[in-house]
Amino acid sequence: MEMVVIGTGDAFSATRAGSSAVVLAPHGHVLIDAPDGLMRALAEASHRSGIAIGAGTIDDILLTHLHADHANGLEMFGFRRWVDRRNGVGCLPRLHTPRAVAARLWERLAPSMDQGGTAGLADYFDVRFLPEGAACDVAGLSVRHRMTQHSIPCCGFLLSCGGRTLGWSGDTVFDPAHVAWLGAADVIVHETSESAIHTPIAALNALPAEVRRKVRLIHMADAFDPACTDMRPLEAGERVAI
Ligand SMILES: [Zn+2]
Repeated sequence: MEMVVIGTGDAFSATRAGSSAVVLAPHGHVLIDAPDGLMRALAEASHRSGIAIGAGTIDDILLTHLHADHANGLEMFGFRRWVDRRNGVGCLPRLHTPRAVAARLWERLAPSMDQGGTAGLADYFDVRFLPEGAACDVAGLSVRHRMTQHSIPCCGFLLSCGGRTLGWSGDTVFDPAHVAWLGAADVIVHETSESAIHTPIAALNALPAEVRRKVRLIHMADAFDPACTDMRPLEAGERVAI
């Protein structure tokens, strides 16, 4: 399994897209979260990685939650694919997320996407609820999720394929139980930000060395100093082998 990092910023980053990646799954590209400026972020990551990725190559999206730095890209992605289909190109993209996240998704998108009341969520996305306490298949990946502690409903993921597993924390306060759940992964992408609803780097620095070795950092503020930790921050366009 391999992934291409799309964005690594926190919500207020002036220099980087929000935390996002594309997993190169057996049956297609799977986008984790859709930050602001998604089209540009995909194009830049594609250029840097040498892998052709873009809105037209992604048929599956895993969505952690509805904060702007994770969900604002859904509008333009949805419109772009809607236009493509009117021109006979591509399929209705599948959006996989917990029921609690999906509950207010259309409430968020409708004011700019309902086309005067003629369009609904199903015109843009095939929304599929991630099953609670069970795995499901997304493009050949076995996907499990776990709800995190954040200011709105949010989840993290375990994505498995070919005996390897990628852990994705999602936005969360530091939660030892969540880290333990993510410990089943070979590579753990964990968020860090100095905020009451996020995970301070000091908490991750206190994890055992065998856990820290698996951790790659994402969701950093622009002022983040890589020298404050022995865990490596991810970079947009980077290819990560799981
Ligand atoms: Zn958030």
